[in-house]
Amino acid sequence: MMRFASWVDGGHFFIRGTRLTSHGDPRRGPRYQGTFDELRMVGDTVFYSYVPSRLHPDTLAMICFNVFFPWIGHTVEFPEPVSDLVVDAINHQTFQQHKGTIEVRNVGGDPQQPADDGSDTVHPRDTVISFGGGVDSSALHVLFPEATLVYEMGQRWRRQQKRSATIDAMRVHQARSGTPNVPVRTNSRRLSRPRGVTNWLSILVPALLVAVDRGHRGVLVGSNLPTMFMKAGAEYSPGHQLDHAARRALESFTVPIVQASAGISHLAATKICADAGITSSLTFCERGRGGGPCSKCLKCFRRETLYRILHREDSSAYPLDPFPTDTSCYAEKYDLKRAAREFRPGWPISNAHNLALGRDLLGEEFPEILHRVGRNVPSANFMARRPPEADGLFPEPFKEHILSRIQASVPEMTPDELVAFRSWSAIEAFD
Ligand SMILES: [Zn+2]
Repeated sequence: MMRFASWVDGGHFFIRGTRLTSHGDPRRGPRYQGTFDELRMVGDTVFYSYVPSRLHPDTLAMICFNVFFPWIGHTVEFPEPVSDLVVDAINHQTFQQHKGTIEVRNVGGDPQQPADDGSDTVHPRDTVISFGGGVDSSALHVLFPEATLVYEMGQRWRRQQKRSATIDAMRVHQARSGTPNVPVRTNSRRLSRPRGVTNWLSILVPALLVAVDRGHRGVLVGSNLPTMFMKAGAEYSPGHQLDHAARRALESFTVPIVQASAGISHLAATKICADAGITSSLTFCERGRGGGPCSKCLKCFRRETLYRILHREDSSAYPLDPFPTDTSCYAEKYDLKRAAREFRPGWPISNAHNLALGRDLLGEEFPEILHRVGRNVPSANFMARRPPEADGLFPEPFKEHILSRIQASVPEMTPDELVAFRSWSAIEAFD
């Protein structure tokens, strides 16, 4: 069984998951995400530089379960006695298919009393944005400047803090809009080999800790249109109909997790950020000098391409200068042969829609090799607007003050655009 302990020391919040081989805890287990690849446990203690003053034992247990999911065997003991609700939640079918039935050793706690009945409308100031500094979560910040920004910053224990352009950006946002921000350092992506998240929900733990501790009523997550509805640029998929049982389980012990920017494409988000004057604070890549964009990787290429589309349409409103890559030249600084391969469907993030946008909206500026590769990809010019299915991702209390601001900022697709969007596929477009 896995035995959990949790403590506070020196301004840090710790959770240890002790693996007991005699009780069936595997050294290798599946990541709860995507292809469920096997992760080997190399660290048994996770730390967060945010210490919550109050955390219900059930909430703590669900955080333990999510972060250490790969290595939990058939029996588990949480830091404090939990209610039956936790036993039911971790034995949901979505987890059982990987873990079988899990016995909980210390049941007997009282369930959490809900702070509200969930019917009152939620105001942006009562929410937290899980902030990464990229265009999706930065656009959410522009739309909801009252919302607290929480940034999950990967770090080894007791290592000197590296320069982070995202933390610099949060300071700028605070100075401009009075936005509260909480950088949370954690080693949560260093517990395994290969490194990375152990569970797609574990990256939300810092935002959830802050939200629960401060009595906020929701976490806004910066997903985006192609991730949610276009299988990352391969073909249309009705993402709003997917049932996320694992997310619902975590929400029921914390706060609602809302995919607030799922109707906003990177193109629309880039425009929202530029119109608000925060282009120079975008940190979609942290591999470069000063912990900002590197001007070499394909993520930088894709983001720069979208900004150059805006610049081409209106060069005085969207000057190149503030964009955080080296804009003295464009395509020459990137590995375009690699780009030509990675835009295809089949790559984990295929981005064929960006190929179509560059081809149609950037004209001769867009590199010839990519014109050639992407010549059969259907037009994706609908990306500037929002499909109505994205509105369905908002729980009722989030509609009046939160969804309405998105609707005011990003118009709905026209009937013709909706047909093009819902039938869009790049699968057949490549030789
Ligand atoms: Zn980069």
